[in-house]
Amino acid sequence: MTTTKKKLPTVSAPVMVLTLPVSKQKIKYRPFVIKEQKALLLAQESKDADTVLETIKEVISSCTNGTLKFTKVPTADLAYFFLQLRIASVGPEVKFSIPCMECGADNIINMSLNDVKIDTKNVKTEVKITDTVGIKFKLPTIDDALDADESDSKSVKMLYSLIDCIYDEDSVYQKSDYTEDEFREWIENLNDAQVARIAEFVDSIPTLKHTLKFNCGTCNAEQSRLLEGLHNFFRFDSNS
Ligand SMILES: [Zn+2]
Repeated sequence: MTTTKKKLPTVSAPVMVLTLPVSKQKIKYRPFVIKEQKALLLAQESKDADTVLETIKEVISSCTNGTLKFTKVPTADLAYFFLQLRIASVGPEVKFSIPCMECGADNIINMSLNDVKIDTKNVKTEVKITDTVGIKFKLPTIDDALDADESDSKSVKMLYSLIDCIYDEDSVYQKSDYTEDEFREWIENLNDAQVARIAEFVDSIPTLKHTLKFNCGTCNAEQSRLLEGLHNFFRFDSNS
């Protein structure tokens, strides 16, 4: 009698659901597995932004069965999702090594990623630059954010990429009908106060935020450090 070797049993992954805070899209996902965690760690160690991004993209795609469109959702949603995925897969604890502002000594600070907040209530995608003229913006996606990395976040290029439309009492001016150069010329004719209104939109783009408060273990000086943006919370191993 021949015995055929049996395959090892299939271990099914838990199915989890969350709602993205900005787009309100419901996403079903599973935690990442060890080989995916290893790939993320390797990417992190490479310190190469493209490698990190590509790896995250692949992991998110497999963990959501392709339902989360990486380049289509606002970065705020992507950051929030990735944080929840990390918590579901590895747990919420992270350790930071932070030098004291007074004496320079390193402090090891533990925190829970569950405390990281993303404020989506104060998003201001519509700004009026005069009583009659306004601009509607869309929130940046990862593609917009990558383009902006190469320049200033308030640059004309960045703003142009985020415009949905411009309007006044009579008309709506669709962005697709105007080139970046035409938009540049238009924006360069605005005054300082009007440009400041546009900055209200840029400042309202939601990001991950957490303030770490601690006393230095060496000199006891009170410290407060604002961590902002996903890169601060990109930690894939369970002990660091
Ligand atoms: Zn100190």
